[in-house]
Amino acid sequence: MEKLPENLAAALLPWYEASARPLPWRQDSTPYRVWVSEIMLQQTRIEAARGYFERFMAALPTVADLAAAQEQTVLKLWEGLGYYSRARNLHRAARVVMEKYGGALPADEAALRSLPGIGDYTAGAVASIAFGLPAPAVDGNVLRVCARLTRCDDSIGELRVKNAFREALREQYPPQACGAFTSALMELGETVCLPGTPDCPACPLREKCAAEKTGRPERWPVMPGKKPRRIQQRTVFILEHEGRVALVRRPDKGLLAGLWELPNTEGALDETEALCQADRWGCAPLGLEPCGQAVHIFTHLEWHMTGWRVRCGAAPDRFVWTTPDDRAERYPVPSAFRAYKEQI
Ligand code: SF4
Repeated sequence: MEKLPENLAAALLPWYEASARPLPWRQDSTPYRVWVSEIMLQQTRIEAARGYFERFMAALPTVADLAAAQEQTVLKLWEGLGYYSRARNLHRAARVVMEKYGGALPADEAALRSLPGIGDYTAGAVASIAFGLPAPAVDGNVLRVCARLTRCDDSIGELRVKNAFREALREQYPPQACGAFTSALMELGETVCLPGTPDCPACPLREKCAAEKTGRPERWPVMPGKKPRRIQQRTVFILEHEGRVALVRRPDKGLLAGLWELPNTEGALDETEALCQADRWGCAPLGLEPCGQAVHIFTHLEWHMTGWRVRCGAAPDRFVWTTPDDRAERYPVPSAFRAYKEQI
């Protein structure tokens, strides 16, 4: 996993300020309102939660009102939202807040987490949005954004992945805008960095995003149980000497076992590096020119290839130097190299 790009807030906050949706819980973000909204939104779409939130707040506008209410009243207000344990925990937690904290939600991530029904995510949301603390709230949307920014090939279902992103984000919280940073990350995941195909042209983090640079950001995140193909950069050489082209045999075991291939090496080599490599092989390179990029997809692996055509002053015998007839009759070169075979 690559590191999260630096300084996300600088790109994200101006975008959020300009495009944040006017949601009811974003106005007057008291700890109580943020808490109730986050609990409601856990398994409910924003549009569905909006009306419930307004009715709930009208009926039970404070923690004290919630704590004093009958359970049936709370459940009635929740009716139709489902997952009623959320409502019961909310009610129980309000009573704890009254008894233990005098009716004010604690401005502390760990203390919030100790309340019934409040986990890492909700504690982070309330601590950052309502109290301005640097406390990340990492839900599925934020995980998706992080996994794409870093081209993370580990499953986002793994707790250690979630924890690693939470701690990496924590370091990026701007002290003056913790709540906005949390909300902006959520907003990005909900409106731009969508499941399936993200809307990268509209994304303020586009310049920083590793997945977007591959041209296939929808490959991330890796969902539990799925492993993506590994991407390997390779440099492929068309080495030419007196009208012949170098081929080399692959090992007897493994990928494309025993087939013949154009000499190639791991990594995307630039011009100087490619010349050095040809020199190390003993080809006495006289000059080179690029011959394009190509991708070949195997079952569990993708080769992203960079090609160089090199004029060689020597023909080391680590390679077989072939004519077109040789290649047609004796040396099967797999289709992974098609883009370069066509240029020979
Ligand atoms: Fe998501 Fe695209 Fe933005 Fe990357 S550039 S974070 S994939 S929307």
